[in-house]
This record gives sequence, C-alpha cells and structure tokens, in this order.
Amino acid sequence: MELRISNLSKTYANGVVALDNISLTIPTGMFGLLGPNGAGKSTLMRTLATLQECDAGSVFLDDIDVLDEKDAVRRVLGYLPQDFGLYPKVTAYELLDHLALLKGLASRSRRREVVDGLLQQTNLFEVRHQRLGGFSGGMRQRFGIAQALLGDPKLIIVDEPTAGLDPQERVRFHNLLSDIGDDKTVILSTHIVSDVADLCANMAIINQGHLLLCGPTQELIHDVSDKIWARFIDKRDLPSFQIRHPVISSRLLSGRTLIHVYSETDPGDGFEEALGDLEDVYFATIAGRHRAATRCAD
Ligand code: ADP
Repeated sequence: MELRISNLSKTYANGVVALDNISLTIPTGMFGLLGPNGAGKSTLMRTLATLQECDAGSVFLDDIDVLDEKDAVRRVLGYLPQDFGLYPKVTAYELLDHLALLKGLASRSRRREVVDGLLQQTNLFEVRHQRLGGFSGGMRQRFGIAQALLGDPKLIIVDEPTAGLDPQERVRFHNLLSDIGDDKTVILSTHIVSDVADLCANMAIINQGHLLLCGPTQELIHDVSDKIWARFIDKRDLPSFQIRHPVISSRLLSGRTLIHVYSETDPGDGFEEALGDLEDVYFATIAGRHRAATRCAD
C-alpha cells in the first residue's frame, strides 16, 4: 500500500507548529521517519493513525481518504503508540485474546489460532500465561507488535519502539519488525539513527515540523559519502574547530574526541576523508548543512 501525504499542517492551540506543510509519499516496505524529540513525529503518526485531526492537507492510503474515512483506515491499520499502556494484572494471552475479540474475531477456535500464532511470532508463547506487569521493556514492545498485527493490517505504524530497550532486546525487536513482511507498509518513527539504518529501505528526516530530506536510505547515504571529513581533536579545541569548519558532530571514541565536518572539498587542517554513514546524513541535515535533492514523489 502506498501512503500519499500532501501539504499536511498542524498547529497546536498553544501556537506550536508541529507539522508545516509536509508532503511525502511512503511506499510499501519499511519506512523510517527520523527526527529529534519534538520534531513532530508523533503528531504525524497520530494523524495517520486517525487519532488526531490536522488543520490542512490530505492523506491517501491507496484510494482511502485517511482524514475522512477513518473506519476504513482502522480496518487495515496496526498501531503501536509511543506510550503503550498495558493492564498489569492480566496475562499476555488474556489481553491479546480480548483485543482479538474487539477486532471482531468472534470464533473462539479461530481466535486461539491467531493469538497463539502472534505470540509465537513475537517470541512470547512461552510466557503467554505470565502477567504483563512482570514483562521487561523488550517483552512489552514485542507484545505491542503482537497486538498491532491483529487483523492482518496492511499499514503498521510504530512510534519510538526501541527507546529504552537494551542492545539485545533492540536486535530482537529489529528482527521481529524485519520479518513482518514486504507486502505491508511499516512506518517506524524514531530518533535513533541505527533503527533506520538497520531496517528501512526508505526514510525521511523531519525537524521542527519541516520535512528536510527523504528518499531511499542507501541513496541518501551515497549523497554524503564523499563530503564527510574526520579527525581527532583535543576536546578543549572544539569551539575553535567549530568556528573554522562546518562541524556536524563530535563524539567520544575510546576516550578521544572525534569530529566530523561536512565539506564538498578537502578542509585541510589535518582532516581525513571518512566514509559517510546515516549518522552523518542525519547530523548534516539537522545542522542545516546538507540539502540533497529530496527524492520524494508528491
Ligand atoms: P516528536 O514525536 O517528534 O517528539 P511531537 O509530535 O510529540 O514530536 O511534538 C511536536 C511539537 O508539538 C513539540 O514541540 C511538542 O511539544 C508539541 N506538542 C505535541 N503535542 C502537543 C499538544 N497536545 N499540545 C501542544 N503542543 C504539543
């Protein structure tokens, strides 16, 4: 399914412009929506999930008018919200069974089949009779995916799903998402660059309600690949480097400070060419240094 977002805008009552004229086409497969906290990701996700109104614009999921035909969207939608609440005293099986009933799966035997299948798919079958209150963060998120997959949705929206997961749980969660299927449209909203690098063939970067960049992930990385330069510095020298060069990131590597600059030509000053990756795309874009041609059809 293709999702076509055109000129979508939302200003909250307090005057915050959360979405400013966003136009974006999201193809089938895994799509990463990347941006820092406060960028407008959840506002966009909630709007697409029919949970929130926008001020202007249109959204079509194939030929379904998302802003108008909410019931039709909900029939094909699976949603894992950012703050996914669980009933702590019920078991994974009981809650999933209940949610399946709400989704319209009336037959008890069919429900059992579907619920068991989803618990197996999300690696929770062994713990299906444990109370949700005792689940770890990773187990909760996997349960969140199980409930989002009820009803075999065609569009799946997951909002910040790996925040707070430990590295092992994150890998597990990534594997689960990547197995969901190529025939579905999965939108992964996150501020974690490696989530998108690991999983998403297509992506967009938004910040302060603006769409800054969008396109196939590998092409966006290729665009910066010859423009990133790196060197280690004494961290006290960072301000002077920032004055002299377009520094896009500085981080500690084995206790030393490594800086990356964005430059079409060799900046000299001891820098060496680095192989640009998605972090460089992200930091250069957020810093306003990088403005590659946006590869999003309208
Ligand atoms: P993200 O998911 O990228 O962190 P959000 O969509 O949650 O971004 O928020 C975008 C901006 O809108 C932020 O500045 C946030 O403070 C503001 N915002 C979000 N929800 C509301 C609300 N209900 N009322 C007022 N401002 C809001």
